[in-house]
Amino acid sequence: MNRSAVEEIKSRLPIDEVVGTYVKLEKAGKSYKAKCPFHNEKSPSFFVSPDRGGYYCFGCGAKGDIFSFIQQFEGLDFRGALKILAEKAGVTLTVDRKADGERDILFQIMETATQFFEDQYSKSPLAQEYLKSRGISAESQKTFRLGWAPEGWSNLRDHLKRKNWNDLLLDKVGLIKRKETDVWEDTSVGTASSAAVLANARSSRSATLALAKTVGFIAVPTDNNSSKTSQHYYDRFRGRVMFPIMDSGGRVVGFSGRIVKDDGKSAKYLNSPDTPLYDKSSVLYGLDKAKSEIRRLNYSILVEGQMDLVLSHQAGVRNTVAASGTALSDGSVSKEGVVNNLGLIRRLSPNVIIAFDSDLAGRKAALRAAGIALSIGMDVKIADIIGGKDPADLVKENVELWRQSLRQAKNVVEFELDNVLAEITDRRKTLQALQERVFPLLVNIEKETDKGHFVGMIRDRAGIANEDVIWNDLKVIANRLKAADPKTVVSTKSSRTSSEIVKNVDRAERQLFGILYLMDKDNLPQAKEYRDHLKKIAGDSYQRRAKQADMVMADLAFEAEAYFGSDQAGWDKHFREILSNFERDIINEDLMDTMKELRLAEKSGEHHKVAELARKCQELSARKAKASSSGMQ
Ligand SMILES: [Zn+2]
Repeated sequence: MNRSAVEEIKSRLPIDEVVGTYVKLEKAGKSYKAKCPFHNEKSPSFFVSPDRGGYYCFGCGAKGDIFSFIQQFEGLDFRGALKILAEKAGVTLTVDRKADGERDILFQIMETATQFFEDQYSKSPLAQEYLKSRGISAESQKTFRLGWAPEGWSNLRDHLKRKNWNDLLLDKVGLIKRKETDVWEDTSVGTASSAAVLANARSSRSATLALAKTVGFIAVPTDNNSSKTSQHYYDRFRGRVMFPIMDSGGRVVGFSGRIVKDDGKSAKYLNSPDTPLYDKSSVLYGLDKAKSEIRRLNYSILVEGQMDLVLSHQAGVRNTVAASGTALSDGSVSKEGVVNNLGLIRRLSPNVIIAFDSDLAGRKAALRAAGIALSIGMDVKIADIIGGKDPADLVKENVELWRQSLRQAKNVVEFELDNVLAEITDRRKTLQALQERVFPLLVNIEKETDKGHFVGMIRDRAGIANEDVIWNDLKVIANRLKAADPKTVVSTKSSRTSSEIVKNVDRAERQLFGILYLMDKDNLPQAKEYRDHLKKIAGDSYQRRAKQADMVMADLAFEAEAYFGSDQAGWDKHFREILSNFERDIINEDLMDTMKELRLAEKSGEHHKVAELARKCQELSARKAKASSSGMQ
């Protein structure tokens, strides 16, 4: 019998090896222990068992196998984790049904678009000349898959439509835009794009049209082919060098496009909008290529732009990630349980050097990023770029100066203290500036000894006679921060992606529904019987669970097939097994809740209620015992 993809990968990759590349493991008997990467803790309560192929955290309850570990740690969906582990194990994936889910199709579209841009790049002297002028080598262009979106309104769209993908799908991944009534929402129309229209116009008629459009009379893209004027969609990226943005598994989820000639009107960079694949708060540009170096060197470097990143990697500084095209969000995890971008690098290493442009805007952005990083417990330094340049130019000019800037990075508190002292010459205003700009940073530093060190530094350099003044201010600021509910400081998301919903459906449940979907697809008669069992066990919650699972049906079917193979006989066995575990879990949940109610009732002396709840507890315990011994009959 063929092994399933998951079994094959698990047999080749021991869990301590997989987890060990991300977390420092310590031997503890037959198992390993570590500080949990999923919650902040001082002493280790995270255990890895090679015998059972699983991990468990006694602190936060995180548990699972190598797949759920990669999913959780890297903030990926199941497919993303499968891709990473299959590559690591050298297993070729042969799961069918892989083109069923819309999510998978969206990934295919992004991959095809990336190849299209790469291909166009090889034919565009203009794009090649541009990257060369910025100091980017041919090797880096290939490594980062940089491409070229040609001028014109429908090059990519036509290419993708020939592969039978419709406008709705292309719109969904943000590659095309819809014409909105008479006005183009794209502000670059009439500026950079008019040149393209003019270039396309060969007859005098279309030249006139193009001219009319340029001056704002007509807002419809056109070329010689009049049938095209009726189309409602157009390419979002035109005449731009394209930087594919990848998730930590290396799959393209979005793009950032840069114009090659500044015209003073078009935005220098244009980014994909948020899509089901691309969530700006959970992606960092370059993370897929930087993660192992961040782990090895135990710090990351956060730069602003894609150019900065590519050149830094080119110079051999490969623990660099870029914020551009992403949105740094407060907190390490969003309301929906998705890891935010800084949360992702925090797991790899708590140390970060922020190296943004040295202009005022760059400095402001750096301090904002620093505030977020501090608030999730990171140790933050800021690099002052030598010569007041941006990192990309510095690297191009002199790699050694880039390394020197990084070596001289200062802790963010010291960095801002120096700024304040340099800017404010009036001593009477110094304290106020410190209160506004430096103390809020200092408040976030966790270690008391570090805090004391900086308080002393501020006292000495700012000439404050008594450091109690500083400590009192810090107390006031800390209280003010506490008063603003920390729970409200999470990213607000426009829409929930399917991967987030998958995470909310608990593991056993996910697998049960996945097997049911596989059975449905093959019209297996036992599907109905099995579904009835599940209904009985889940009780009132069945409808809610089924509805949640249905939304990600293709994903769950794919996952189940990867886990349990395409052999129908195996499905029965696994379903029964998982169902009995699931039943125990559900009864357990019920039992915990009832016991909690019981304790409350006892406290408030509601005797009648106590008796009733006690009976219910007994009943549940009996059911739990029975479920453990019998399973599905
Ligand atoms: Zn934990």
